[in-house]
Amino acid sequence: MFRVRRLSPIDQVYLVIRFSSILVIWLAFGLGRFPPEIPRLFAWLLPSIFTLYSAIFALSLGLLPRHHRLLYLIVLPFDLFCLTFAVYFTGGADSPFYVGYFILASIYALCFKASLGIAVGFSSAALFSLGSLRELPTSGWADLGVKTSLLVGMTILLAMITGTERMEREEIRRLNLILSEKNEELSRKVTELNAISGMAMAIHSTLDVDALTKLTLNLLKKVLNLGACSLMMIEKKTGQILFSATESLSKEEAKKALSEEIAKGILSGREQKVADYEQLSFFRCIPLLHRENIVAALCTDSKALDDISSDDVMILSAIASELAVAIENVRLYELTKKLSVTDELTGLYNYRHLQQRLESELERAERYVHPLSLIMIDVDDFKLYNDTYGHVQGDSVLAKVARIIKGSCRELDVVARYGGEEFAIILPETDSSGAFVVAEKVREAVAEHKFLGRDGQRDARLSVSLGIASYPVHAADLEGLVKEADNALYRAKTGGRNRICKPGEEG
Ligand code: GH3
Ligand code: MG
Ligand code: MG
Repeated sequence: MFRVRRLSPIDQVYLVIRFSSILVIWLAFGLGRFPPEIPRLFAWLLPSIFTLYSAIFALSLGLLPRHHRLLYLIVLPFDLFCLTFAVYFTGGADSPFYVGYFILASIYALCFKASLGIAVGFSSAALFSLGSLRELPTSGWADLGVKTSLLVGMTILLAMITGTERMEREEIRRLNLILSEKNEELSRKVTELNAISGMAMAIHSTLDVDALTKLTLNLLKKVLNLGACSLMMIEKKTGQILFSATESLSKEEAKKALSEEIAKGILSGREQKVADYEQLSFFRCIPLLHRENIVAALCTDSKALDDISSDDVMILSAIASELAVAIENVRLYELTKKLSVTDELTGLYNYRHLQQRLESELERAERYVHPLSLIMIDVDDFKLYNDTYGHVQGDSVLAKVARIIKGSCRELDVVARYGGEEFAIILPETDSSGAFVVAEKVREAVAEHKFLGRDGQRDARLSVSLGIASYPVHAADLEGLVKEADNALYRAKTGGRNRICKPGEEG
């Protein structure tokens, strides 16, 4: 459907001039002010043709604004033709229609390319001279020459002025375009930086590196517009892949991309090519970061890697470096955990610490010739409890048993979780009968306690079996002591549970 659009100011001015001239022409005609020598046919025909195509032109401008330039070019020869005839019949070089050429040439010089404006100026001058042939001005050729030169000179001047202005406008438009491109680039960088800082925060607030590696890869994929890709962190010393993640890769492809071979190749500094992929014509790996002991590498479609700019490489390295820090943190955390002395579930000392303390306490006992006892404790039928009430409740029961044991000992006794549902107590300066008293206290306290049963009821009963061994009577060294206590515990079990045994004693 056609829609009438608003006309530009120049169009509006042009149409006002055009229709004002039509009005004046018809007025002059009506008032009988036309020279009588004009043939009747032309006197009617010219203004009618001019009026008709001007109306069509105005209508077309409103209806077809996109073909605005074409319409101006179509109407131009008609205007020149009408004007020349008008000049011819209304006094030649002295004709008032001479002004029409001026208007015409100015409009085209203002609205179109300088060359077209100048061409219209020259054509107007030529046609005006042609129209003047019928009747030279009273002042002769000189007057005609001045008028045509004026027409041409004015058009050239106007075309030059508007040409320069148009060039300046073009330059401003070009600069604006560059500015908006730079703006876009800047806002992309800001988004990337925000993403990196968000990721850095995430990295430093979690110890789940597997999830982080995936998150990092996702981010890289988005920031760099990557398709299928994989990311891996390789330990330099061993060539082992510490953490890895893949995106949009099948299991088979991921296996190839994350192989130890590729990792070793990356470490050797060779460019790694992984071809023959289902989806990928050509897959390549590049190292993003070299740390003391870690290398981070990104593998993706070869073409995508070629398209990565130096700016992008900086971003990649920044992200990889955050990830490397996170991995180091996790390793540190793991190491700290290893070095820690307490058991998480019960809060008692752990096995490692028990061994160390047993060693040092035995040394002291030897040096000062003091006795030392070890009690090994095992919860009876704990598997049954777990199976009946669930593992989670089992955990809280283990914590409770640990508190009961701790509550039955002296401050200087070392209470530890030996592993699973087994505990151990080192009793410095305590002989086997003293240890028996403590063991009995523990056995009784556990047996009397009502543990959590079904539906939050405190109706579950548990018992413990205990094995005692003492230095120096039962064993002279650490291994011997542990073995004797363990054997005694075994006998307590086979003897019917919920009881205490010493070496050489049946349960
Ligand atoms: P026994 O009287 O011969 O010692 O029987 P038991 O069922 O206690 O011994 P068994 O060695 O067959 O099973 C030990 C059970 O202790 C099995 C295991 O699920 C449970 N267990 C070990 N560690 C934990 C733990 O940390 N939490 C929970 N809930 N259960 C544990
Ligand atoms: Mg056990
Ligand atoms: Mg048990």
